[in-house]
Amino acid sequence: MNKTIILGAGIAGLSAAYHLKEKGISSIVYEQGKDWGGLCGNFTVDGFRFDRFVHLSFAPDEYTQKMFAGTHGMHEHIPYPTNYYHGYWIKHPAQNNLHPLPTEEKIKIINDFVHRPQMEVSQIKNYEQWLRCQYGNYFAEHFPFAYTRKYWGVEPHELETKWVGIRMSSPDLSEVLRGAFEAQDKCFYYAKVMKYPKSGGFKSILNTIAQGADIRLEHQVCRIDTHEKRVYFSNGTSSEYSHLISSLPLPEIIKMLPDVPSAVKQAAADLRYTCGYEVSLGFKRPDIAKHLWFYIYDEDIPPARVYSPSLKSADNAPAGCSSLQAEIFFANGSNIPSPQQMLDTTIDKLINMGIFKAEDLIVKDIRFENFANIIFDQNIYHNRKIVLDYLHQQHIYSIGRFGKWEYFWTFQAFADGKNIAEQQELIEHAT
Ligand SMILES: Cc1cc2nc3c(=O)[nH]c(=O)nc-3n(C[C@H](O)[C@H](O)[C@H](O)COP(=O)(O)OP(=O)(O)OC[C@H]3O[C@@H](n4cnc5c(N)ncnc54)[C@H](O)[C@@H]3O)c2cc1C
Repeated sequence: MNKTIILGAGIAGLSAAYHLKEKGISSIVYEQGKDWGGLCGNFTVDGFRFDRFVHLSFAPDEYTQKMFAGTHGMHEHIPYPTNYYHGYWIKHPAQNNLHPLPTEEKIKIINDFVHRPQMEVSQIKNYEQWLRCQYGNYFAEHFPFAYTRKYWGVEPHELETKWVGIRMSSPDLSEVLRGAFEAQDKCFYYAKVMKYPKSGGFKSILNTIAQGADIRLEHQVCRIDTHEKRVYFSNGTSSEYSHLISSLPLPEIIKMLPDVPSAVKQAAADLRYTCGYEVSLGFKRPDIAKHLWFYIYDEDIPPARVYSPSLKSADNAPAGCSSLQAEIFFANGSNIPSPQQMLDTTIDKLINMGIFKAEDLIVKDIRFENFANIIFDQNIYHNRKIVLDYLHQQHIYSIGRFGKWEYFWTFQAFADGKNIAEQQELIEHAT
């Protein structure tokens, strides 16, 4: 029997299916949800379309750009995000744009920047030390420490630093001073252009690869028998396979397998991640959203980040209207407030910040995502290797953000699906 099955119809799973087909190999994609797209998907409430978290594309290579652009075309946005900090609006990154802050606070930040701890890179053991060495104590403690607790749900000392890469800007003294004396126009963001489909929401980047794929929706995998080579679904059906590709989260798939050694079970259970709420808001006025997205450092305001679907594309809101979505994250295993409590608090806080007036709000919605970001704690690489090695022994090809347990952007999850489809071993046995 030659039957390749793919678990999960997010971008990684769909990319695997598309690129296998290009090689003449058919596959079936099983998805638990009512729709395909995974985190690239969207939902609509009373004519307002919301993505599942912010989502803009900055795929660097031509092939991926072409595949994402499909036939709908892309808007191009220059990323000028901004920051909200105790009533001040500060351009992003804050360390390069201290201008709006009071003089006393700027003096503390610059003083500590000049006298920041000096450590050899090899001596830096965690993200807290990294932040103190990059920015000085005052800035580190008031900005990224607070943001780390909001975005990652953990303390900075719990994180390692390899994930940081290009994500954080590291200015020199001249840049800090220039940004403190006067407003800067320069875009310091790590991507210079962010693209977004003109129509259909972010999910449209998947149209090309989803077209023609054999996707079976509402098939939630609950058990995988690697001896019989059969996947069981919670709707009572099952499917035999010769080759199994999975984009399911590592901690979940391990629970579905038989006879897993306790060390592997423990490693999977110890992988940490964030989950989170999307608070989606629609307004009867066109001019509510002022920024494509902004970060909030204040810890008494739940969202870490707020973005505007209607600024990404006007196609996301009815004519004459605008929209926002706030993202609120928690580390897995933490106490999570009820949806109603979170919705009410977020709306109150955004009104207090002066973002909108209650009478302009016509749509409000809250949803929970079980998996958002991988937490790069000190044990991630050790635990991840144990789990991935075990899946490899079981002849399961694990792909995607949660299957590789990597900080993948969409173009990387897309590439991961393509790479697996190009693996010689898979092609030889599946044709
Ligand atoms: C807050 C946030 C913001 C982001 N912003 C951006 C951005 O701006 N730009 C960018 O490029 N990337 C962004 N990303 C990253 C991007 O979302 C991911 O890289 C990409 O969507 C991962 O795709 P995937 O296919 O690997 O995983 P997923 O999209 O999670 O797909 C996995 C699929 O498996 C399904 N599944 C899970 N369990 C089961 C089961 N038991 N049975 C059957 N099916 C199952 C799920 O329903 C899902 O459809 C962001 C991510 C987050 C969390």
